[in-house]
Amino acid sequence: MSNFDNNISRRRFIATAGATALGSLLLKACGNPPEDKPTTTTATAAKANISPEQVPETTKVKLGYLPIVEAAPLVIAKEKGFFAKYGMTDVDISKQANWGAARDNVKIGSSAGGIDGGQWQMPMPYLISEGIITDNQKIPMYVLLQLNTQGNAIAISGKHKGTGMGLKIDNAKAAFDKMKSEGSKFKAAYTFPKANQEFWIRYWLAANGIDPDVDTELLTVPSAQTVANMKTGTMDAFSTGDPWPYRIVKEKVGFLSMLTAEMWKAHPEEYLAMRSDWVDKNPKATKAMLKAIMEAQQWCDNFENRKEMVQIVSSRNYFDVPVDVLEAPMMGKYDMGDGRVIDDKSLASLYWKDAKGSVSYPYQSHDLWFLTESVRWGFLPKSSLATAKDLIKKVNREDLWREAAKEAGIPASDIPTSTSRGIEEFFDGIKFDPENPQAYLDSLKIKKA
Ligand code: CA
Repeated sequence: MSNFDNNISRRRFIATAGATALGSLLLKACGNPPEDKPTTTTATAAKANISPEQVPETTKVKLGYLPIVEAAPLVIAKEKGFFAKYGMTDVDISKQANWGAARDNVKIGSSAGGIDGGQWQMPMPYLISEGIITDNQKIPMYVLLQLNTQGNAIAISGKHKGTGMGLKIDNAKAAFDKMKSEGSKFKAAYTFPKANQEFWIRYWLAANGIDPDVDTELLTVPSAQTVANMKTGTMDAFSTGDPWPYRIVKEKVGFLSMLTAEMWKAHPEEYLAMRSDWVDKNPKATKAMLKAIMEAQQWCDNFENRKEMVQIVSSRNYFDVPVDVLEAPMMGKYDMGDGRVIDDKSLASLYWKDAKGSVSYPYQSHDLWFLTESVRWGFLPKSSLATAKDLIKKVNREDLWREAAKEAGIPASDIPTSTSRGIEEFFDGIKFDPENPQAYLDSLKIKKA
């Protein structure tokens, strides 16, 4: 830099600094700015101490959620003021009637009364991006953050009590064949097909030697109807997030065969994903949102905050459920309803750190497991395994998570160094090596592919 340029920069710096000082003086003279209802993004940014280059393009976003523990970080980010802290002062957290409604709402977007994104089971953002569950209309989406790990269970109707239907099912094949021959095939339900809950049920059954496509009947039931359906005997099992499985125990209509955390410790559960057009248009707002949710996840992960968290999420405005169906599971306490009692915080829904590392970071290796499992059951063609990694690179924006984490000052020890969590191991000893998904498929006895 020449002396001349140097002088100019220096003079500019003094001029800017002077203007700022003058601004502060004027503010002092007029008293403090009003605390409520900031009128512009810049005013909010100033209040929240956001550096000028991080001021979001918009303060507004509409996020869909389902009333289950997976949604807690979204609710807490809103209620604890974390969204506002990062400049997102108009975040609309919108309860979705069911997963199908969430899909339909993201398809139309918020400009048409829908949503910009929100909470998803995997691999829904992929199926939506590829048009597979949206009538061939491709709505590109980005996976941005994982909301939680664990926190789900498989509930079983009380009529099976005492038959040894746990994580491992006693004499499974004989018992299921008997039900089939008596014309009462075992019916297992989930809240949306071809996603998390169906995968957990299928994995559990197959690991016990039951072919879910041959030996059982699988059906979709919205979580709000599951308790009623189990009471009337129209289903034998169902899987979803708390509070629904625990409600079955509380209302004495059944028991829990297992927690999903017992099947796969620290397993990936649900995610934040957005329409990619919204993210591409609002990259700073995206990162502001991510920073807020990360802060909420750290808050939720602290068991000392969980009582308050349950009070907030169970309220009428959000889940609208009794506090006591959520409080015990959130503390890792499960009366399984069959005599077994679990008291282990490491098996509860986790939001920031689990036994394997980061919860919030969206590992691409987990997306690959969900896509591989889709191939296993014939939901996606075998050929999609060859292109899965390219698709994941397009949909999974872990790079944005990293940028947001750095901006938020997250310590390096909380930021994974690899996009892969490495080899995963399930309760039946099966291993998934993300470097070789075909070997995983080959190792499975029951599959369609
Ligand atoms: Ca779930």
